[in-house]
Amino acid sequence: MLSEDIRKEKEITQTQGFDVIVIGAGPAGCMSVIKAAERGKKVLLIEKNKEIGKKLILTGNKRGNLTNLEDVNTFITKYKNGQFLRNSFARFFHSDLIDFFESNGLPLKVERGNRVYPESDKASDISSVLYKLMKQANVKMFFRRAVSRINRIDNYFEVLTANNKRYVGSNVVVACGGKSFPLTGSDGAGYRIAKKLGHSIIKPMPALCGIEVKDNVFTRKCAGIALKNVRVTVFLDQKKTSEEFGEVLFTHYGFSGPAILNISGDVSENLVKGTTILSVNFKPALSYQLLENRLIREINENSKKQLKNMMKNLIPSGMIDAFLEYAELNGGKQLNQITLKERKKLIKALTDFSFKVKSARPFEDSMVTRGGVSVKEINPKTMESKIVPGLFFAGEVMDFDGKTGGYNLQAAFTTGYIAGASI
Ligand SMILES: Cc1cc2nc3c(=O)[nH]c(=O)nc-3n(C[C@H](O)[C@H](O)[C@H](O)COP(=O)(O)OP(=O)(O)OC[C@H]3O[C@@H](n4cnc5c(N)ncnc54)[C@H](O)[C@@H]3O)c2cc1C
Repeated sequence: MLSEDIRKEKEITQTQGFDVIVIGAGPAGCMSVIKAAERGKKVLLIEKNKEIGKKLILTGNKRGNLTNLEDVNTFITKYKNGQFLRNSFARFFHSDLIDFFESNGLPLKVERGNRVYPESDKASDISSVLYKLMKQANVKMFFRRAVSRINRIDNYFEVLTANNKRYVGSNVVVACGGKSFPLTGSDGAGYRIAKKLGHSIIKPMPALCGIEVKDNVFTRKCAGIALKNVRVTVFLDQKKTSEEFGEVLFTHYGFSGPAILNISGDVSENLVKGTTILSVNFKPALSYQLLENRLIREINENSKKQLKNMMKNLIPSGMIDAFLEYAELNGGKQLNQITLKERKKLIKALTDFSFKVKSARPFEDSMVTRGGVSVKEINPKTMESKIVPGLFFAGEVMDFDGKTGGYNLQAAFTTGYIAGASI
């Protein structure tokens, strides 16, 4: 089937034009192909991998967290540049995406946190539906073709590939994704293509990734321990920039876990501006006074116990030694000998376990990219470039990124749908 496509390609290269050429067969590209084809457009899809959706099949631990059932106002708070997506969500939101897949034979289910997955627990089933629909619509698909450049010539585009193929179309959708997980195909080519066409690129940075701290001695000692229901706060030059509540995982390099992933894009942005501090509050539900009262009660009730034994009631056992070392407290000290200063030190460490941030994890380990084609130069109602008529964008190549929970796939599908519907 693939070799047949390649043979046919020779016949259409250079000669025939397309209504639209879509570059990149991720969720955004495939959705714009399906929508444009449904509207009778002659579509060509060009993908550098040998198949569609290489990243898509990895999503949600290969279970494909497609979207989330939050209402639209909550939804847009989950993104950088969420307002840009509001208009598109009004036309194609989670219920439309759910209908789309269920009516095409993929039953879905809702899990914890309103997250939506295929009932089969297989992300690959999502890409199978997309492939089937594109085949049914007789869309031309060329694989193993990396687009290197697009030129606007009079009223059409020429799309050039790394292996010197040339395709001609009246409209182009750039759906090449970001720079994260580059082995899946998205390696930043979309930014280079858009820049050559005159678009501004907001510096791409890793997001939805772990965070490396400068002094990782403590986190290394606690590697593998997860803390639930903690609060993580990020400071830039001592000013609070973001906060997240949830689960944190200690690692050999610093921190990971859902709460960390969700603030990692902000950390990446902070790091280029100044000193970034990450602080973990182990007891966010207690005010300073309530925490102090609790400690005083524990100390009074167990006055003969050693400090390290009392700590078992406050933090996971596996991290007590490292924690006390961090707080510069002697774990062998009897509770009735703890001074006021030491009690304050303990409260400070429990509520502000803080580290200077060294970096975010690299793009290879980050699930999405913060930054990309500036959304100021894209019409939010159509996804068309405000600079080059006929040029459209879809998905992560644009400067928006969402938190974990299905927000990134929904945005990719929605913007793909809008681009396909606007050509
Ligand atoms: C491990 C992992 C888990 C994730 N889990 C989830 C999740 O559960 N839920 C969620 O919402 N989001 C998740 N995401 C994020 C989500 O996968 C992406 O945001 C989404 O895939 C972006 O879709 P896209 O179509 O814009 O780009 P991509 O999926 O990156 O697709 C871009 C396509 O363009 C192709 N391409 C790139 N350059 C060229 C070129 N020059 N020529 C031709 N083709 C090109 C690429 O090969 C690729 O196929 C996850 C990401 C990762 C890495």
